[in-house]
Amino acid sequence: MIDESLKTKLNSCQELPSLPAVAVKIIELANDPDVDIGTVCQYISLDPVLATKLLRTANAPIYKSRRSATNIRQAISVLGTHTVIIISLSFSLTNSLMKAALPNQSPAFDSNSFWRRSIATALASRALGGKLGLKFLDDLFLASLIQEIGILAFWVIMPDEYGTVFLSSSDHDSLLKAEREAFGMGHDELGYALLQKWGIPDYIALSCINSHCDPEPIDLGPTLQSCLAVSRYLADYFLFPQETQKMMKLNKAAQDWLGLDAHGLVDVIKIMGEELSAVEDLFEITIHHPSEVSQILTQAKELLLIHSLSGMKDLENKSTHDGLTGAHNRAYFDEALAREFQLAQQNNLPLTIAMIDIDHFKRINDTYGHATGDTLLVALVESIQKQIRQDDTFSRYGGEEFALIMPGTPLAAARNLITRLKTTIAGIVCRSGENHLIQVTVSIGVAAYPGNSARIHQPNDLIQAADAALYDAKHAGRNQIKEWNEQ
Ligand code: GH3
Ligand code: MG
Ligand code: MG
Repeated sequence: MIDESLKTKLNSCQELPSLPAVAVKIIELANDPDVDIGTVCQYISLDPVLATKLLRTANAPIYKSRRSATNIRQAISVLGTHTVIIISLSFSLTNSLMKAALPNQSPAFDSNSFWRRSIATALASRALGGKLGLKFLDDLFLASLIQEIGILAFWVIMPDEYGTVFLSSSDHDSLLKAEREAFGMGHDELGYALLQKWGIPDYIALSCINSHCDPEPIDLGPTLQSCLAVSRYLADYFLFPQETQKMMKLNKAAQDWLGLDAHGLVDVIKIMGEELSAVEDLFEITIHHPSEVSQILTQAKELLLIHSLSGMKDLENKSTHDGLTGAHNRAYFDEALAREFQLAQQNNLPLTIAMIDIDHFKRINDTYGHATGDTLLVALVESIQKQIRQDDTFSRYGGEEFALIMPGTPLAAARNLITRLKTTIAGIVCRSGENHLIQVTVSIGVAAYPGNSARIHQPNDLIQAADAALYDAKHAGRNQIKEWNEQ
């Protein structure tokens, strides 16, 4: 079986960093029900950085303690032995992995994004648990922090094969599905195997695997598992608040799995903002600038409290889609291109765009009327949307001009698709009010990043290049595709 060989690979894998001695000792403590304060103090003092971090954490407002701690023994009496062990484990596990240079690691693996997301998820689930009155917030924190550790394991064990699967999945759920198809096992199970190998207490390791199934309905009240599941959506919104559609998914997950309403969710986001700096400090990572945090909260309030959810859906749709054709609009295109361009630059991936403009469209309007022109635009969008891939973004750039973004696609690979689109469009037949059959052709300009020269540095350069190619296509007689000529 594929998954057995994967587990064997994991167990014999030399590339995975071995845990530092302190982390190994702390795992021992976490597994020992009769642990005494003296031993905890002794182990933590082995690592001065950990000891300092722990003291700072004990005194941070997140623990709302009135007493201040000046040494480890006091920190233990302020926080409790269990909490100290779990915080120490969160810190020493994460810290060592964040700093480890993983030898086999693919250049496409973005370590900072991985940890930023993991830490935001941990912050999110602690805030959710706090709002819902759950106990063991630190266990919740640790479990969320490491619930995606299987992704890291995949990158280390099989960087090339995993890179392809990872980069072609647009979200967490589709990634899990693609992993199961390609490797017979998802990162949930691989992560569990890794946590077992390290000896992480089973109740924590198990919750990482369970958090990947949809939780039971909320009859039993909020559970560790449902908090973990919602925390992924919450972190996703918190990290990318400009993508307001993420709020809809979050709102639904919070309502369905935790029974948390809009006001509750706003409170949770507020708690995240309050606890953020202590967590950033503990892990030495920046998630957001303080001014961004207050903006996120204001926006969340607006989205959740001022607009009802259905209103929000409407608003969301209007702000990202074109009213006539239902294609994405220009604003969405700009946002998507900026995002894809950054991803392409960071991960050294190709990115191709095409600008598509209908030939002599004014004549169609003038001859058959504006309504017929509209019908043609709608038919064109419908037929293109059937052909493009899930990761491609097709938008109405303006009047009768459209733009297609093809992430991860070099120019040579885009040629086929673009030629096919051109043929499809030429095959569309529309009827005018007087029953005339109408067909159109298009001119297409194509440009790719990185290209042969180093002239494309930002999204706008790519748009200008594709526009120049489109201009060439028009001047060469229309009804053709031109690629940007870099000379
Ligand atoms: P070319 O081959 O050079 O692109 O010629 P063209 O006529 O397509 O280009 P031009 O830019 O001169 O005219 C574009 C026309 O598209 C003019 C405008 O009335 C029409 N148009 C823009 N938006 C819409 C729309 O939403 N509906 C309809 N029916 N027509 C539109
Ligand atoms: Mg035109
Ligand atoms: Mg035009």
